[in-house]
Amino acid sequence: MYTMSNDEIAWSRRVAIMGGTFDPIHYAHLLIAEDVRQRFQLPRVLFMPSGNPPHKREYEVSPAEDRYIMAVLATADNPRFAVSRLEIERSGPSYTIDTIRQLKAKMGPGTQVLFVTGADAVLDIVTWHEPDAILDEATLVAVPRPGFDLNELDETLGQERASKVTVIDAPLAEISSTMIRERVREGRSIRYLTPRPVIDYINKRGLYRSRVEARETMEEATS
Ligand code: ATP
Ligand code: MG
Repeated sequence: MYTMSNDEIAWSRRVAIMGGTFDPIHYAHLLIAEDVRQRFQLPRVLFMPSGNPPHKREYEVSPAEDRYIMAVLATADNPRFAVSRLEIERSGPSYTIDTIRQLKAKMGPGTQVLFVTGADAVLDIVTWHEPDAILDEATLVAVPRPGFDLNELDETLGQERASKVTVIDAPLAEISSTMIRERVREGRSIRYLTPRPVIDYINKRGLYRSRVEARETMEEATS
């Protein structure tokens, strides 16, 4: 029987959560996750598609199952990436702190959780549920994002909270899910913005097109 050494156990109990709506997942999400994975020598990065977004959003979010499948398709070729169903299967609003606690309980005592956010998300964290608990129970890792200034971290979060955030410099990519949804709606190419299997899935399901167009796609597929 092979018994893990204490060092190996400690290593295996480190995980990064890449949280998001992922509507759809795109290359910026993937490259950030890979950068964090390598930099912190993590055995696993867990993509965590949100369930019901707690804030009312300005657009109708795609079904959780579609967002989950696209995340699985996009990460399938990376053995250190996995997609979790934790939030999409939990009823009620998706609170990050609940996810962090649930994951720690599942992975056992001594689990270290890194929670990865882009600059926009980390600057917004004071509006999240229990921000101080998030900062205490996970290591918040923030990456830059075009259009958002991480130098504002101190001012926006206050010095004490800001000091708990680990800022790293991942490659910048000016890609957003909003941009992809708009491009699909306008009939423009989304090639090289997200992996091919995700594009195929968007087309197959008629996601992000007008309701009429999407219904036509589904009718065509089932007739
Ligand atoms: P939307 O436009 O629908 O808000 P999004 O591109 O912001 O989509 P989300 O699912 O909202 O993607 O974001 C998930 C996480 O990824 C957040 O922490 C967000 O800050 C981060 N993120 C997304 N795109 C980028 C990017 N281009 N650069 C840095 N971080 C990003
Ligand atoms: Mg966003």
